[in-house]
Amino acid sequence: MKKTAKFGGSSVANSTQIKKVCDIVLNDKEICAVVVSAPGKRYSNDIKVTDLLIDLYEKYRNKDPKYKEQLENIIKRYEEIVLDLKLDEKLLDDFRLILNKYLDEIDDSFYLENAIKSCGEDFNARLIAKYISSLGYKCSYLSPKEAGILVEHTINEPIILEETYNNIKRFKDDDRLFIIPGFYAISPQGKIITFQRGGSDITGSIVARGLECDIYENFTDMSYIYTAHPNLIDNPKPITNITYREMRELSYNGFEIFQEDAVAPLLKNNIKIQVKNTNDPNNGGTIIETKRNNIKENPIIGISNVGDFLAFNITEYLMNKQVGYINKLLDIFEYQHIPVEHIPTGIDSLSILIRKKYITSEFQMQNIINTIKTNFDFDEFEIIDDLSAIAIVGEGLKNIMTQTLYKISKTFDEENIKLEAIIQGASNNSLFVFIKKENEKLAIQKLYKEFFN
Ligand code: ASP
Repeated sequence: MKKTAKFGGSSVANSTQIKKVCDIVLNDKEICAVVVSAPGKRYSNDIKVTDLLIDLYEKYRNKDPKYKEQLENIIKRYEEIVLDLKLDEKLLDDFRLILNKYLDEIDDSFYLENAIKSCGEDFNARLIAKYISSLGYKCSYLSPKEAGILVEHTINEPIILEETYNNIKRFKDDDRLFIIPGFYAISPQGKIITFQRGGSDITGSIVARGLECDIYENFTDMSYIYTAHPNLIDNPKPITNITYREMRELSYNGFEIFQEDAVAPLLKNNIKIQVKNTNDPNNGGTIIETKRNNIKENPIIGISNVGDFLAFNITEYLMNKQVGYINKLLDIFEYQHIPVEHIPTGIDSLSILIRKKYITSEFQMQNIINTIKTNFDFDEFEIIDDLSAIAIVGEGLKNIMTQTLYKISKTFDEENIKLEAIIQGASNNSLFVFIKKENEKLAIQKLYKEFFN
């Protein structure tokens, strides 16, 4: 059995946590590679190192001389760790040098931002590798460049290049324990490209697949993935087994514990993911795999929410007879690089549902509205901009669809919550319920009660 273990920000936030990580890793001979995040929050209103780095970049870009102070704040975070772990303080000079080198030498603002952001995980991996080596173990820092983690940079998200897996495979039979920084990869031109936030999970998946591991252990500060977000429901039921497909639907829809794109690299090779707690490694755990055996007992596995959707609703008499109507409308969004997520339709009406985060300015919004107004001869056009989508997810949903729809309608009727749209994916694994954002919390709590109590 071979494992890759990934540790999130809270697991590597300070020297106490890092020692726990090393304990876990050094007591499990099956772990052959460790992927680490940047130091996260040490207490609730602390700032993650990645956020400090983003601020450093912003200050530098805006020619704010305070960037130097911010750079030193970042070094201080590592200084605390380096001193506690009794490592050579020269490491801190190396970190300072790397940051200054990027600031001095990278002219392009996009690449500079990416390079600066990558330092959080990079410095952490370097110092953890040094610490484990100082304890007398055979351990090496392995950078994404050396490992060959390659991505194509696109306007939206980086795309992992297939050759990455063969590149990593070169290290498969090495007897060293590798410590690899998460969150970033390298473009074929040698530039540092970061993944989206929470992207160390993706690095962990890539490494687990490249090294042909059986299990990808993902350590966070939670013992399980839960049936609903613990911020919304008191003591939600834990999930012990969940399928990749279910996880994908849930993580895409607001389950922050596992980055949504991290499932993809594992699917082909059937690598199991085990979500565990660094502070309680011998207990709990959610296993994510191809199939689960408890679909009959637990047809629905979780309820999750994402706020911030907006709908463009258009009504036009005889819309159904116009060839290419939807295409013409979608072109407007494609042109603006905005992914359209759902398109519920009637005979003479349709709704385009997109995530609010993709509209980056008022100007862009006006542009879309004006283009629609100029190119369509609609009877009615309205924008609803405060929608929340709630996803009800489970591989067994298809067997209880009528009952589920009944429960949703009953709950919303009792609570006087207006249903703006309801969408069933073709896979029948999920139902999306769109309501006004102001009703989101109440809706989740009531639905949770209906489905899990
Ligand atoms: N450090 C990055 C973030 O804060 C990536 C990660 O932790 O996975 O989003």
